[in-house]
Amino acid sequence: MSLPGTPDRPLCVAIIGSGPSGFYAAEALLKAPGLTVRVDLYDRLPTPFGLVRGGVAPDHQKIKSVVVVYEKVATDPRVRFFGNVLLGRDITVEELRARYDQVVYAVGCESDRKMSIPGEDLQGSFSATEFVGWYNGHPDHRNKKFDLSCESVSVVGIGNVAMDVTRILACDPERLAKTDIADYALEALRKSKVKTVWTLGRRGPAEAAYSPVEIEEFGKLEGCDLVIKPEEAVVGKVSHLENGDANDKKKVAYVQEHAKLGDGTQSRKIRLRFCVSPVEVIGEGGKVKAVKLEKNKLVDNGRGGAKCVGIGEFETIPSGMIFRSVGYRGVPITGVAFDEKSGHIPNESGRVVSGGAALPGEYVVGWAKRGPSGLIGTNRADSVLTVQSMLEDLKAGRLSVGPVDFSPESASKLLASRGVNPVSYAQWKKLDELERSRGAVNGKIREKFTKVEDMVAALSVPA
Ligand code: NAP
Repeated sequence: MSLPGTPDRPLCVAIIGSGPSGFYAAEALLKAPGLTVRVDLYDRLPTPFGLVRGGVAPDHQKIKSVVVVYEKVATDPRVRFFGNVLLGRDITVEELRARYDQVVYAVGCESDRKMSIPGEDLQGSFSATEFVGWYNGHPDHRNKKFDLSCESVSVVGIGNVAMDVTRILACDPERLAKTDIADYALEALRKSKVKTVWTLGRRGPAEAAYSPVEIEEFGKLEGCDLVIKPEEAVVGKVSHLENGDANDKKKVAYVQEHAKLGDGTQSRKIRLRFCVSPVEVIGEGGKVKAVKLEKNKLVDNGRGGAKCVGIGEFETIPSGMIFRSVGYRGVPITGVAFDEKSGHIPNESGRVVSGGAALPGEYVVGWAKRGPSGLIGTNRADSVLTVQSMLEDLKAGRLSVGPVDFSPESASKLLASRGVNPVSYAQWKKLDELERSRGAVNGKIREKFTKVEDMVAALSVPA
């Protein structure tokens, strides 16, 4: 029998997760020369686009325009969307492997790293993931409660996620009013009493993980001063800035110029700190009240960079909430290999590895493959590499154990037998339209459905 990938016998691929990396994997398969392929794109939510919908900040709409590319993929006749289907609950890995030649995990990193300091579990201590999911109307986080009645909050970490969280907490909520921010979040932010956001970097301005455009945006926020201590804006030899790229130099120059401006006169402040590490979250009555910081010095890390070491000097800053934004982490899925230490799916060139050997027919892309790093576009090249491995394996006949039934109806029938009704892409387009018209009433881009049951109910209403 001929290998799959021909008009008589298309290659059948299931991609689990419809965020950027999943869509880029589908795109690369569709573009593979001479390949006849059928792609089923699964998502645990009825809505596609992963972090583009649930992660990108509402005031960064331009970034979200990337969905135009995904839309083209999703509407290709070779692609089907199976929304509201959870791997491990509605269908198992074995069942997928029996229906598809290749399965690609594009499941991202849904959890977060901990700081592992005393007081981290106090009430008022959150992960950035929760806050980002909340303001973006993600069904997992829409019911979280953030007490914005305090005047001062802390954000730990200075990556781009910390920048988003800081900006949303510190900006005038009216600049979010016309976006797709969840209605309850906009309402809560309008009532917010937060005046100071402490954004805490453990290393110096030359090591900051944020992008230049993100820090520059802080300086442009209306009604808010970006405040930086001049003594913390200094860059020592150990930072090896001379080896840094243009972005590093741009970020340092911006911070050093801004540090000269002092405290400013606006009512809200972002106090961006460098070379400090939270060592304890201090509580009162079980709630976060303050954060104890230790000052760091930078020492050579022996790899051409700098690492931080505490110097035994402490200070305490008032803080009614603390958001840790110190990196995401993957969540294990039943039946899928997982490396506890790194928090992602072990792989070699995108081939899932277990017990030292590649598992035939199982692949991984995106953050689940390489960890939580890179911008949305980084995922395109990364998914192309995994698809190259998939095509090499196809050529070599290294495929899944099955499929026992590769007909297009096979997975649908199985799901239907369990009472699972996947949301199709056409149905998502209906939700999309409804969200846009709900938003238009208030001059917003869209008003998202934030509960899965509301999405399903909206789809069952005849048009
Ligand atoms: P990230 O870029 O890796 O930043 C993590 C931050 O946490 C760093 O500042 C890191 O400091 C700090 N950190 C780690 N452990 C810490 C600890 N124990 N104590 C104190 N600080 C600690 O991760 P991210 O911000 O979650 O972003 C993930 C990816 O998404 C990144 O590639 C980011 O660029 C991307 N993203 C992009 C956008 C955008 O383009 N607008 C928006 C959001 C996210 P060290 O540097 O010292 O390790």
